[in-house]
Amino acid sequence: SNKIKNAKLVLLGDAGTGKSSLVLRYVKGQFVEFQESTIGAAFFSQAVAVNDETVKFEIWDTAGQERYHSLAPMYYRGAAAAVIVYDITNLIPLIIIQATFARAKKWVQELQAQGSPNTIMALAGNKADLLEARQVSAQEAETYANENGLFYMETSAKTAINVTDIFYETAKRLIQA
Ligand code: GDP
Ligand code: MG
Repeated sequence: SNKIKNAKLVLLGDAGTGKSSLVLRYVKGQFVEFQESTIGAAFFSQAVAVNDETVKFEIWDTAGQERYHSLAPMYYRGAAAAVIVYDITNLIPLIIIQATFARAKKWVQELQAQGSPNTIMALAGNKADLLEARQVSAQEAETYANENGLFYMETSAKTAINVTDIFYETAKRLIQA
C-alpha cells in the first residue's frame, strides 16, 4: 500500500542564507553562484519516498527580507514542516542589523507562538562548505535545536552536503508524526 501524504513545507530565514539555493539543489540538482533574490515567495513541489509511503512536499521558498515579514504567516500557516535556514558564516553584505542565526531563532519563536503546534521544524546551518569562515559552532546550534524541539543539520547547497538528507529526515518525521 503506497500512501501519499501532501505536506506544505516553508523555508524561513534571512535573505542571503541560501533558502532558494537549497531548494534549487534539492529539486533540480543545481547550484548557481549568483542566485537572484526571491521576490515574495516561490513555489516548488517534490515527492520523496520513505519506505512504502510518499510525501509530496509543497515547498514555499520565502523572501526573508523584513519588508516581506507581514506575508510570512500566509506561508507558515498550515505548514506541516518548516526549514529554518541561517548562514554558518554570517558574512552577508547589507545585513548588518542581526546575525542570521539570531534571526533564525526569531523565526522559531514566531512559529512556536503562531504556527501549527505539530509543525516539524528543521534548522539548517547552511554554507557548510565555508568552514574556515564559520561564525556559529555546530555545538551551539545543536544545543539550541535540542532545547527547542528542532532537528539540526549543516548543509551546503553548493556541494550538496546534507541537502537531500534534511528534506528526507523531515519527511520521515512527518510520517512518524
Ligand atoms: P536566499 O536569499 O536565502 O534565498 O539565498 P540564495 O539562495 O539566494 O543565496 C544567497 C547567496 O549565497 C547566493 O550567492 C548563493 O550562491 C550563495 N549560497 C547559497 N547557498 C550556499 C552554500 O551552501 N555555500 C556557498 N558557498 N554559497 C551559497
Ligand atoms: Mg531566495
